[in-house]
Amino acid sequence: MNSNEELIKSLLDRGYADERIAETMRKADRKAFIPANYWPNAYEDHPLPIGFGQTISAPGVVAFMSKSLGVKEGHRVLEIGAGSGWQAAVLGLLVGKTGHVTSIERVPELVVRANENLRKLGLGNVEVVQGDGTLGYPEQAPFDRIIVTAAGPQIPPPLLEQLAEGGKLIMPAGGSFAQELILVTKKKGKIETKSIMSVVFVPLIGKFGYREGI
Ligand code: SAM
Repeated sequence: MNSNEELIKSLLDRGYADERIAETMRKADRKAFIPANYWPNAYEDHPLPIGFGQTISAPGVVAFMSKSLGVKEGHRVLEIGAGSGWQAAVLGLLVGKTGHVTSIERVPELVVRANENLRKLGLGNVEVVQGDGTLGYPEQAPFDRIIVTAAGPQIPPPLLEQLAEGGKLIMPAGGSFAQELILVTKKKGKIETKSIMSVVFVPLIGKFGYREGI
């Protein structure tokens, strides 16, 4: 695909995005979140390298995860794995000025870059912090929505604890080479899980993820 509008149309046609998500992608152009040598590939629907062995996710996955989470205005959202900051930007636009997004990233250089990318868009309701996201972010819990954009062997227990009543969490879980996207809902304190799609993500490294060097 040669343009952002062509990409967005294809995401809408395939049912990965709805109009609200399409609008966020018009404002947060993927090209602004990737290294210049990949600009010719900005609108292709696959992951791209962003340095430090990490990737910006495929647009279809970003749209589908955002849509499946049902993010509303005013929501407090936690993301694990800021990477380039693009998914965080989409979430920040979905929650609007009355909502807030905190994104945890373990690679310090990516924290700096993601924050720069978000500031350029003028998104003051999104902050990227450095840390092990498998521990969640207890100082701001509970969260209405939690999204994990790296794949772990299990859903980290602290994230389930920090999910608000009626809240939703989405995360790729499974082996290191292929995983299922799991959608979790917390209802009356009980956890319901549903597998919604097969995916491939980079590993979640941390206390409740994989060990470094796998
Ligand atoms: N959401 C990102 C975007 O929009 O560009 C893509 C995320 S990339 C597929 C996964 C990210 O998760 C990487 O940047 C990686 O460093 C980060 N990561 C892995 N384990 C983590 C952890 N325990 N805590 C925080 N970030 C982690």
